[in-house]
Amino acid sequence: MAAASHVSVKPRGGSKALTGRWPLLAQPRALLAYIIAIVALYVAGLGWFAVSTPIRAGDALTFGALVACGAVCIEATRRLGMPAGISRDLLSAWWLPVAFLLPPLYALLAPIPLQILMQKRVRQTVLYRRVFSSAALGLAGGAASVAFHALVADPGELGAGAVQPIGAAVACALLFAVLNTPLIGVAAYLADADTRWRDVLWDRENALLDVVELCLGVIVAIACGLNLALLVLALPPVVLLQRSLLHAQLQAAARTDPKTGLLNAAAWQREADTEIVRARRTGARLAVLIIDIDHFKRVNDRHGHLVGDQVLAGIAATLRGQLREYDVIGRFGGEEFCVLLPHADVMEARRIAERLRQHISRMSVPADEVSVRVTISVGVAISGVHGDDLIDLLTAADLALYRAKELGRDRICLPPTVPPRPRETDENQQPTEPEPA
Ligand code: GH3
Ligand code: MG
Ligand code: MG
Repeated sequence: MAAASHVSVKPRGGSKALTGRWPLLAQPRALLAYIIAIVALYVAGLGWFAVSTPIRAGDALTFGALVACGAVCIEATRRLGMPAGISRDLLSAWWLPVAFLLPPLYALLAPIPLQILMQKRVRQTVLYRRVFSSAALGLAGGAASVAFHALVADPGELGAGAVQPIGAAVACALLFAVLNTPLIGVAAYLADADTRWRDVLWDRENALLDVVELCLGVIVAIACGLNLALLVLALPPVVLLQRSLLHAQLQAAARTDPKTGLLNAAAWQREADTEIVRARRTGARLAVLIIDIDHFKRVNDRHGHLVGDQVLAGIAATLRGQLREYDVIGRFGGEEFCVLLPHADVMEARRIAERLRQHISRMSVPADEVSVRVTISVGVAISGVHGDDLIDLLTAADLALYRAKELGRDRICLPPTVPPRPRETDENQQPTEPEPA
């Protein structure tokens, strides 16, 4: 299940006192309208099914047992913390049996106690996020439940192992994932237009997790249909999987710079080191770029730090969009970015750096009444020419960057080429002149 645990949103302005008390009102209008529409649909669905569903003790017991399993999962992992952004968990292992074995009302209700528990025990976040997550999950679960009950007359058949109800459960579990992910993804996109659809919809990792959740949900539903007590056997492996999933997400979050979504300096250096060792082994060339925004302090001074942050995010998005999947992009700190380009020689590195410079100079970030434009200076160093290890390459690229600033900014520079070690035959050789920018 995807959950908008920490969708970070730029404030829209308006009365500070009002938005302080009601953070939802500070959100972009489109996001506000979207959240209200989803929550209204959810409340309407709850009302509709509440009046048309007879309450049975057996159903209430199954619901209580499945929600209790979800609660145990949350409690068992809560000390690990929760990553920022859209986080994933395996709670669908419990939502899906609720959707299949019980009337749709229960699928709509199930997220409420678990979101309350997360709010109280895991992380306190603004209320509208919890309400929205409950609504999105409830709607996706409710739709999967309606579809399942339309296909399978007696949900108890799930436990009998017949092919048709199991096939219907798999199809409806897919429907749940297909509905839930975009419901949350649209909110993340409306909250921050810099969010890449690939990050909030399906990349390979998310698709794999959806498959795992689907399998778990269907297996737990079959076990539950057979005998409710079998939940005791299903719980430990799901808890263990949930813990390892969370661990992996926290590890990924620790590598990421939260403002730009790029690698942070430490993670970039680790990955760059690995690439350099690989290039040395294979004899391939690579390039290191240090990119520094020109006069960034003025942007902050004139338009404020929030706009400055948007410029940083915009540049990060341009870098990601313009570079190849295997290029290593990081935020070095402040307003500096670093890029490692595998298999790039002098010509290629210079061509790529120039493309980045041009794209960034055309980029504009809207601020109050104006749009902010920035330029960048880039220092470029090539392995085997300006250094062989990361420290040498970074030093050389930094030297080149300093030169670019000195020459007037908004340009790309290479460092002076390191002279070859003097040999007896060429002792009098002059150091090579710096490459022209
Ligand atoms: P130069 O062309 O010489 O690079 O000038 P500059 O103004 O870009 O460089 P300077 O080092 O004087 O200032 C860097 C500025 O970057 C100062 C600091 O406020 C700003 N900055 C650093 N990190 C952040 C950040 O995370 N967000 C924002 N908005 N500003 C930042
Ligand atoms: Mg700087
Ligand atoms: Mg700067």
